[in-house]
Amino acid sequence: MASELCKTISEAKLERHKNLFLNYRNLHHFPLELLKDEGLQYLERLYMKRNSLTTLPENLAQKLPNLVELYLHSNNIIIVPEAIGSLVKLQFLDLSDNALEIVCPEIGRLRSLRHLRLANNQLKYLPADLGRSRELQYVYVDNNAHLKGLPSYLYNKVIGCNGCGSPIQKTEVQLLSFSSGQLTVFLPAEVKLIGTELDRVLPLQEMAMRTLYNIYCQSLKDLKFMTPISLPRSLLDLLHCPLGHCHRCSQPMFTIVYPKLFPLRETPMAGLHQGRTRVSFVAYCCSTQCLQTFDLLS
Ligand SMILES: [Zn+2]
Repeated sequence: MASELCKTISEAKLERHKNLFLNYRNLHHFPLELLKDEGLQYLERLYMKRNSLTTLPENLAQKLPNLVELYLHSNNIIIVPEAIGSLVKLQFLDLSDNALEIVCPEIGRLRSLRHLRLANNQLKYLPADLGRSRELQYVYVDNNAHLKGLPSYLYNKVIGCNGCGSPIQKTEVQLLSFSSGQLTVFLPAEVKLIGTELDRVLPLQEMAMRTLYNIYCQSLKDLKFMTPISLPRSLLDLLHCPLGHCHRCSQPMFTIVYPKLFPLRETPMAGLHQGRTRVSFVAYCCSTQCLQTFDLLS
């Protein structure tokens, strides 16, 4: 078995392979052959899922400097060394189904990383600046039972998060929810109503803020005295201070408003200016629906 592994790696080295498949090899540590001498300078994709690795070598970046994708799904990895930050070309990192309790901030600072998979670990929190990099677009953190809250940078990313720890429910409603501690907040049905590409759908963050606000108002009446749930500070502050309320339906708006202009000369106030003014009255609405149906005269 060991000699077969050596042969596979030597071959990859000699023939300058870009892909190396070491899945299902019962490996307890990184094979030395991978890290010997100058390493595998041409390797771009390394597949090592379903082994028994517990950590990664410190010199990974020196030995595999051109690594673009690293698949480590289903190992027993507890710690990822900070040296992973030196894999400057890494775009895809799969650490799902491991035993990670923390991830080092260096992972979030990998400047080429686009796709990060951390589902099914033991994560309690994520580095505060995870998601700050523009490149990082997809982050999966499903089924981390103790994870509470997400770094605010992730609110603009595609996040695979079934509820920060709740077991996956197969109903549609559950798939459109997120939870924080005891509170499960269902995303509004509008999420599911994307018809054509012309439909303007509110950003997810805005919908979540409105839903949270309504839940708090219903249950606690006074937002000032609410128990802080594990929302990032920036979102909690935002929740306390809506940008305004919809002129049509009075719904609070947090990050987006739809303005509607009414030139004063077309309003009942036109007489005050003898129709000469170019000033407009601006109404703010919460959605395209309110925008279309709002009328100054109604
Ligand atoms: Zn409205």
